[in-house]
Amino acid sequence: MDLQGKVAIVTGAGSGIGKASALLFAQHGAKVIASDITGKQDDTAAQNPDAITAVQADVSKEADVQMLVAKAVERHGKLDVFFANAGISGGFDGIFDQTVEEWERILAINLIGPFLAIKHAGKVMADAGNGGSIICTASVAGLRSGAGGPAYTASKAGVINLVRIAAQQLTGSDVRCNAICPGLIETGMTEFIYTKAREKGFEDKIGQLNPMQRGGIPSEIAEAALFLASDRSSYVNGHALVVDGGLTSSH
Ligand code: NAD
Repeated sequence: MDLQGKVAIVTGAGSGIGKASALLFAQHGAKVIASDITGKQDDTAAQNPDAITAVQADVSKEADVQMLVAKAVERHGKLDVFFANAGISGGFDGIFDQTVEEWERILAINLIGPFLAIKHAGKVMADAGNGGSIICTASVAGLRSGAGGPAYTASKAGVINLVRIAAQQLTGSDVRCNAICPGLIETGMTEFIYTKAREKGFEDKIGQLNPMQRGGIPSEIAEAALFLASDRSSYVNGHALVVDGGLTSSH
């Protein structure tokens, strides 16, 4: 029960990594606010209604993020963990065909979203004086090219450096700020890759370049998030934790 007595917000909790994390955090004793822009957070909460409350919010809207933080404090009296996980992919066209609108849409959710989480959750945690943990989902795409479109890649690189400056600016508060960089994980975001591979009969080719010879599953990222959320990672700060089966270290 690594999160016993802790209160956590998880965004993008209607699907994939966020859903797995909300359920795992609750299983480990946390009270969880599971949030998504869709209604899918309701299904996540229904799996553990004693521990999980569903709240709809758009992470790119400052008022929504403020509301989420306020909801956690109002319902549970405090906030210990914010997992800023919601994100979108897209913009796979070549760089000459990219539009500013597409860049703005991706950056608003993938980079401004984590900024708003750090701004509002970090302030509440720092003011409360009991420390805390903010975790943002970046990607191996933020470390290398070839793992996403240009705007996605730039947004995830931004998240990695955002947690570093946040960790530094939260000095003295005991609030830690880290990122997770997943490799290829089978979720809603990557469903099209898996569906296409299954249709064409080359599913076994997914992950063939990976030392683990496979893609990952959401629970493998949720376990990393649990570690960063818990006091077991009490001296891990300003770090981008790569969870990709070893792909980026070998290719
Ligand atoms: P997913 O599509 O299964 O889940 C993402 C969730 O975020 C969805 O439920 C979606 O509704 C929600 N969301 C989208 N826009 C939102 C908004 N504006 N406000 C609130 N919620 C919003 O995909 P996933 O793979 O679980 O994605 C989670 C995170 O993991 C993302 O940040 C993604 O970039 C990152 N990531 C995924 C992979 C992968 O291979 N799946 C790899 C690296 C990083």
